[in-house]
Formats: sequence, structure tokens, C-alpha cells
Amino acid sequence: MTRVPSAIAVLALALPSLHAQQDALPGYTAAGAAAERALESRIAAHGSADTARAHSKALSSETHIAGTPAQARTRDYVLAAMKRWGMETEMREYEIWMPHTTRMQVWRIAPDTLALDLAEGPVPADPSSWSGTEAVIANGYSGTGDVSAPVVYVNYGLIEDYAQLDSMGVSVKGKIAIARYGRSFRGIKAREAEKRGALGLIIYSDPEDDGFVRGDVYPKGPMRPSQGVQRGSVMNDDGDPTTPGYPSKAGAPRLAISKLAVPRIPVIPMSYGNATQLLRGLGGAAIPQSWQGGLPFRYHAGPGPVMARLIVQSDTATNAYKKIWDTFGIVRGSELPDEVVMIGGHRDAWGPGTNDNVSGTVSVLEAARTTMLEVRAGHRPRRTIIFATWDAEEWGLIGSTEYVEDDTLRLLRGGVAYLNQDTPASGPHIGAGGSPSLRPMLRDVMAHVPDPSGAGSVYAVWRTQSRAAAGSEPPMGNPGGGSDFAPFNNHLGIPIADWGFGNPGGVYHSLYDSYHWMTTFGDTSYKYHAAAAEIGAAMVLRLANADILPYDYVEFARTMHGYVPALDSALVKRGMVGAVSPLERAIAQMETSAAAFATARDAALEKGTPSRSSAARANAALLRVERALTRPQGLRTRPWFRSLIYAADEDNGYANIVFPSVRESFKANDPALTTTEISDLAKRFSSAARALDEATAALK
Ligand SMILES: [Zn+2]
Repeated sequence: MTRVPSAIAVLALALPSLHAQQDALPGYTAAGAAAERALESRIAAHGSADTARAHSKALSSETHIAGTPAQARTRDYVLAAMKRWGMETEMREYEIWMPHTTRMQVWRIAPDTLALDLAEGPVPADPSSWSGTEAVIANGYSGTGDVSAPVVYVNYGLIEDYAQLDSMGVSVKGKIAIARYGRSFRGIKAREAEKRGALGLIIYSDPEDDGFVRGDVYPKGPMRPSQGVQRGSVMNDDGDPTTPGYPSKAGAPRLAISKLAVPRIPVIPMSYGNATQLLRGLGGAAIPQSWQGGLPFRYHAGPGPVMARLIVQSDTATNAYKKIWDTFGIVRGSELPDEVVMIGGHRDAWGPGTNDNVSGTVSVLEAARTTMLEVRAGHRPRRTIIFATWDAEEWGLIGSTEYVEDDTLRLLRGGVAYLNQDTPASGPHIGAGGSPSLRPMLRDVMAHVPDPSGAGSVYAVWRTQSRAAAGSEPPMGNPGGGSDFAPFNNHLGIPIADWGFGNPGGVYHSLYDSYHWMTTFGDTSYKYHAAAAEIGAAMVLRLANADILPYDYVEFARTMHGYVPALDSALVKRGMVGAVSPLERAIAQMETSAAAFATARDAALEKGTPSRSSAARANAALLRVERALTRPQGLRTRPWFRSLIYAADEDNGYANIVFPSVRESFKANDPALTTTEISDLAKRFSSAARALDEATAALK
């Protein structure tokens, strides 16, 4: 899984240039900054596109779905490499309720009979498409069954699409729905179809979204061929659904299967070649023009006269629980071993996964390898750095969520930041995002890493690509859902960041996300893999070595302020004029405190390294700032989500919502509740401001 760029809420910020003093580093003394810059350049010089390519080829040599022997082999590969570099390693095993599909079949049964061939099949140019046995194609956590019914086309299967169908007098009750991929997480599509009484759901990749309408198809081009299928999980929760909020260790208590929020109906992913066989003959209601996709005939909603039969079977009865493995390469901090900076990427895939997510695994591996060369030369970081690979991300962020639930207390106390690498290297288009407190540092790191195009730094190329106006910064995405940063940020409020280089493609979650695709259409030189890793190594080291943690709470508070007008107009629409004021005041208070802290920090560091005790007090207070913006009991309707700043939209899955406790109170249509939530959030901003005041006091 990865984030869908179009679904990321972005915000262009007007900020003064942060690169006025090229060599100064927030949180460092002048001497410390010079040493850190030198360390980062040495690490960069250790980076190697050839090494990245070798790891990529090895790790994508076979399909490695979570819960299979092939995935145990990627675990062993990563651990062996890290040991070879002299790293301390750790592996954590969890037992996950994760049935695998054992059989999936589809027939058209009216107006005539046709058995569909669901396999993607071999492409002569791509050895990994014919060298192994193709795994059963499936949507993870699909329900099982054998159903036959007329077909109804539901566009993207969004809540508003069903409202449209209602207005057309079309229902999916007792029918088989067929939806196109896109615009929402597929689990939401399954939930909405089942809620409305559909007997089964087919989700297909329309050529308008990532097929021939967008470009030449694989293997001639990078886009999705007619037989290409997007697999993927249809579970909406994060983590093992049988152990909500606690780790899935062997012997852990489990929820009854009947209580789990997973689809009960069969859900089947399909190519547009096969979808054509069902869509072309549909009659019934005429569709709105925006529902027309890229296939060369007029779409209709149905129902019928086309009917289909779906069969999905799984190993639920015989082998529902499977082992997964997270790996950790650990560099113990020399001075502050309990403060932890983490970088990670998921190691599982739906196919060979060279892009999703061998590329992220390779970025983490390369960052680890280059860091270890300096550690072994005597440059041990002050704080602990952990290089992680997660299992079963594709099934619902499972490996990272179970880990976060396992290590909650340690992470709450000492978790400095989590940096995520999911599909970071498949082309030249730069993207980055994360917590506003880390954005200035990420921009500065990118300003010191050369772009593989040769056209300047990554940051400079990014400015050009995003057409950032003078005085403003390229837009950065907010943390929503969709990858392993979510448990760290949504559940614990730990600052997160991610970055990467991308390109349009149509092999997402397909057998053709392969080494051949990557070396023909993606990162052909592996320079983008190396650049992503270089950014990663610089990020972890800069966080790990700072005297004072280099969060930027001025940008954080300004970013929060930037969210106020939209919230205010939503409140005004509900007749709540002026209701946003307490929140706006508390954010302003945080900005004042943040500015005072930045001044005090810079003044203190100008005099030299602060005393151990004052640095310790300042850092402890800084670690409390974003924790203060979480609520231990979570969102009112989703207790696992503790961050009150960002959450994934529960009706979309990928999209981000800001100030979720306030936003979700709107659904209750209760102004008193909304007022309570605003005041609760304002109080938490005030305590974040107090934590900053304590950090300031510690440095005076
Ligand atoms: Zn992914």
C-alpha cells in the first residue's frame, strides 16, 4: 500500500527563506553543525547506486506476500545484511489473523456463459512474470462465498456514488457490484457495498485511471496492461483485527472472528480486460457523464442483464493465523540511548514488489549500511537509531501497528521521530510530507542532496517541479493513512516524515511491479534509490546528534494556524459564528511560545554546548509538545486514533483530516459536543505551549 498523491491534502506555506544561513543547523552549536555537515557528506559519499541495485534485484527475485515462506526469506536477507555491516539486530514475531485466499473464480452466467481467466500471466520480456508460479490473485481480508446475481456498475463505489444510484432508482441489494479503483481506499468500497446489501464486489482498474488512456501499457510502456490486476487489502482497521490496541503475540487474547470489522462478502480484484466482459453488456439506467470510464463503449449502471457468479475460498478454517516478522537494525546512542530515531519501510509485497516496497526496503538498507561505515569508524550517534522493516503492511499496516502497540511505553517516552519509506524511488518527481515540526529539517536535508537529474539539489529541483513561488515552499502532504507512519503518528503523536521520487505507472500491486519494470521505466540507474537513502541517513543522523531536538514548532504552529480558516467556515456554516476563537487563541499562544523557544535555543547554543542537565530538561519538554496534542482515550468514535491533529478520513481511508476530534463531532450534529471538542483541543494546544515554555526555561 502507499499513499495516493491526489488524495493528500496539501498546503502551500508562505515562509521566509530558511536557507539564509547555509551552515547553521537548528539545535546544534556552530562546531556541532560543522561536524554534522561533514558527517552527512561522508555518508553521502558512501552511497552507491550499484549496491542499491543489487539489493533491489535480490529482494524482488520472487513474490513475497506476508505469511509465506518467501517472506521469511526477505526477513533473513535483511537481518544477514545488517549483521554483516556490524549492526545489532532484533526480530519480532507476531501471530496475525490473516487468512489467505485459496481459490478465486468468476463467470459471466448471463446472457451467456463465460469463465474469466483471472491470472495476469507471463509477459515474455519480464522474467519474474514467468519464472515462478503466480500466487492466487486476491483482495486481502475478502469474505468468502459462492454468489450469483445481476451486475450493477457503481462508479468508484464512494458514498456519493451510492447516493447518485439511489436518485437513479438503482440498488445493489442482492446484486454483484462492480466498482473502479481510485478515489478511496478499497476497504471503504467493500464496506459501502456490503452495507447496502450487495452479495459480492468486483473492483477493477479502469484504463482511464492507470491503463492505456494514460500511456503505453506494459511491457511497451509503464502503464497497466489489459490483464493487469491491482491486489490489495479490503480491511479498514490498522493492525491485526483480532487484537485491537495490543500486540498479537502468541497466546494473546483474540476477538471472536464474528466481531471483526472485515468484509463478509467476496471481494475480487480484476483487470479491465476481464471487467470488459461484464461491463459491456450492462443495460439499465443511463449514467452521469462523469461515470464513463476509458473502455471503448458506453457504460450503463444495470442491473443486468449481465449476471455473474463469484467464488472466493480461503484457508480460514485450517490456517487462519500466520506468523509475520519485523526486523530491526539498532545503533545504540552513545549519550542518550533511550531517545530513539526510527526509519522504516515495509518488506512485504503483493508480487515481486520492486517498487512497492523493495525500493523502500532498499532505501532503509542503504541508509543503514552507509551509517554503519561511519559508526565503525568511531562516529557513533548520540541518540539510538533503529532501521526497521515491517511485515504485512499490505494487509493493513500490520507489522508496524503491532510493533507500536508492543513498544508503546518506550516510544511515548523516547520516540523522537519515525521516518517512512514506501515506494520512494521510481522516477524523477519529488514528493515529501509529514509533521510540520520536521518539514524545515527535511527541506534543508533535501537542499544538501544532489538531485539525480544533475539539475541542482533535490530541493531546488522540487521547487521547479512544484512551481513554488518566491517566498513560499513546495507543498508537503499531511500524515493521513495508507502506510506505516500511521500508527506512530495517529496512535502515539510521534512526529513523522516521508519523501520519495515517483513517476506515473500502472503496475501497482501487480505481478508486473518487477525488476524489469523498474529497470525499464522506473529508476533505471538506481540513482533515485541512492538519493532517497542519502536523505534518510542525513535525517536520522541529524535528529540523533542534535544537542537540542531540532523540531520547528514555529512552522508547526503556523501550519496549524493555516488550518483555522477552513474550520471556521465549516463552523460558520453550522451557525457557530466565533466558535473557533478559543482554538485560534491557543494556537497563537503556541506560536508565541515556539518563537520564544527558538530564540532561547539559538542564544544558548551560540554560547556553546549547554549543560547536560539543561539539555536533558529541554529535550524532555520538547518530546512532550506533540504528545500533548494527543488524547489518551482517542477520538470519540475511534479510540485507537489518539492524535487530535491528523487522522485518516474514515470515509476515504487515504485522505487526511485535520483536527479530527472537531471535524468528526460535526457528524453528531450536536453544537454542544463541537464546542466541547474545540475547548478540549484548545486546552491541549495550551499545554503544548507550556511544554515549549519549559524547554525555554531549561535553556535560560
Ligand atoms: Zn507500499
